[in-house]
Amino acid sequence: MGSAVRRRYTWGVLFPGLRWTDLGFALGSLVAGLVIGWSALGVQADRALYDFLLRVNPPPAQSSRSLILAFDDKTLAPPGGLQRLREPLAQALAVLARYEPKAVAIDLLLTEPGDEKANAALEEALAAMGNVILATHLTAAEDVRWLEPLAAFRKHAAALGHVHAAPDQDGVSRRIVLAKASGSDRRWALALEALRIAEGVDRIVETEAGLDVGDVFVPVPRREDRALLIRYAHPSRPVERLSLIDIIENPATAAAVRGRVVFVGVVVAGGPDQYLMTPYSYGQAMSGVEINANAYETLAHGSFLRTVPPSIELLIAVLTMLGLALTFRLLSGKTAFVVGAALLVAIHAAPFILFRINWVLPFVPIAAVTWLSFLSGGGRQYLRLRGYFREAEAARGRYQRAIHYVTHEMRTPLTTIQGSSELISRYPLAEEKRKEIAERIHTESVRLGRMVDMFLSVERLAAGQLELHPKAVPVEEVLRVSVERSHPLADKKSIQIQLIAEPDFVRGDAEFLEYACYNLLTNAVKYSPAHSTITVRADSDSQNVCISVTDEGYGMDEADLKNIFQRFYRTQGARESGERGTGLGLALVEEIVIQHGGTIEVESRLGEGSRFTLTLPRAAQPAVGVQ
Ligand code: ADP
Repeated sequence: MGSAVRRRYTWGVLFPGLRWTDLGFALGSLVAGLVIGWSALGVQADRALYDFLLRVNPPPAQSSRSLILAFDDKTLAPPGGLQRLREPLAQALAVLARYEPKAVAIDLLLTEPGDEKANAALEEALAAMGNVILATHLTAAEDVRWLEPLAAFRKHAAALGHVHAAPDQDGVSRRIVLAKASGSDRRWALALEALRIAEGVDRIVETEAGLDVGDVFVPVPRREDRALLIRYAHPSRPVERLSLIDIIENPATAAAVRGRVVFVGVVVAGGPDQYLMTPYSYGQAMSGVEINANAYETLAHGSFLRTVPPSIELLIAVLTMLGLALTFRLLSGKTAFVVGAALLVAIHAAPFILFRINWVLPFVPIAAVTWLSFLSGGGRQYLRLRGYFREAEAARGRYQRAIHYVTHEMRTPLTTIQGSSELISRYPLAEEKRKEIAERIHTESVRLGRMVDMFLSVERLAAGQLELHPKAVPVEEVLRVSVERSHPLADKKSIQIQLIAEPDFVRGDAEFLEYACYNLLTNAVKYSPAHSTITVRADSDSQNVCISVTDEGYGMDEADLKNIFQRFYRTQGARESGERGTGLGLALVEEIVIQHGGTIEVESRLGEGSRFTLTLPRAAQPAVGVQ
């Protein structure tokens, strides 16, 4: 047959009220949110937030553990100053040695042959100094290898440390990589080696989660390439700095280095050292040696920032998504929006709160997921509520029309009853006439009573006020009784009713089931032409019994099929056919089927006929004593 309408009452319900469609939308929000969050734009937004958080949460004012000894403009003022760093460096080291710094990290590349006299002076100063860390770096060329200080210097160094910066794609230096490798040749960063030497530790011990430098645990997991987020000092309290020329000219000023680590480097723009942006920069770059000193301060003070791992980030996103999906499914209206908004606020507060306890939360993916879940959940709820509202409005309109119709329908039997009873009471009538009128009164009052009963039954069944008495009911028996009851009506139109039913049992209330079948049958008779045939079948599989009533009647179009289960709905064809009806029968049949945990399906084609199929659960075993 053509159009078909299936009504199912078993939904794909997940857990408390969450449906598969909700989950589909929620998952869509999750994927879209993560794609946005992990896109270049999302990553950049996260960096901006990180910089902001770093600026509003500066490290507490604490005595700096390091000091920068700077080749500054003043030191490099003499002509050729940048080419002649070794001699002044040697002089400065000689001064430093007197004040016993914990270590001296020299952020200068001493790889070039240079001037012999200067080299000899520097070698002597290095030997006298002792705990010096020299810089090493990787060549940028295709032939990547470590460039080391001249052997004469290296032999006096306590360690070598790499001085590679690791700026992000936006050119801002937020972290340094503590271990950098060329093939299997790996070097620790200058700041880390400075810590090791300052702490008097022999070896740095590596674990998955970080590095142990003596008692200091540095939380730089292997999966993050051992990158250390630098907790830059606030610009108002920068790492202390001495001018190299000052300590040469006035050695007493070097007293401040006692017990600290000294970072020596060039701090003039255009010098050999790269200047980089930092989260504090606002367009003003920072010299490499200052960045190294800041990294050392982070290490020495243990003011580590840890990044929330991606698995936890994903978990938070999934939980928020589920939370919002459940909020908008289980709660409604204002409450749902208030709870949803509270979740939104909590998510937005999370990176601020976490940063205070030194955790960096990649926020944009989570925020995007939260917003999308909120908008999709809230939007769908709004549409759903609007749908309910419209449905309720339509039902109210239908109900009003129905009441109008019912009262109109009731008028006919009532008028007959009134008129007839008046006749009997007012006039002396022959016995035969009296009998005839009394019979008419009886028939009409029965009709009236049935109308009222049926209307009430639909309402009570829908409201769950009518109780079913389920047991194993023999299907063929139910059908046989219904067919027999329909015969008088069918005979009037010379309609044949065929019954094909296997003996089987359904679990249900015999009276209601009989009513449902009888109703389908009378409809088939009412809406079929004379001399046609109606077939009633019962087939079963392991789970269900299918009862179908097929006619060769007027049929219905698609629009009618969608509405015939509504209370009081009658098709135009039915209204014009002259057949009496209330439009309540199918509503009641549907309610009965719902109460039995079954489904009702209808297929129909205009002018060709209809088939109504009830699918009902089979009874596990026939109850004893059923006839
Ligand atoms: P009614 O009292 O009008 O028969 P029902 O609720 O039983 O009320 O049916 C609702 C409407 O569905 C009918 O008015 C009729 O238009 C349509 N209908 C029901 N059964 C059939 C059928 N077998 N063939 C064609 N139309 C049908």
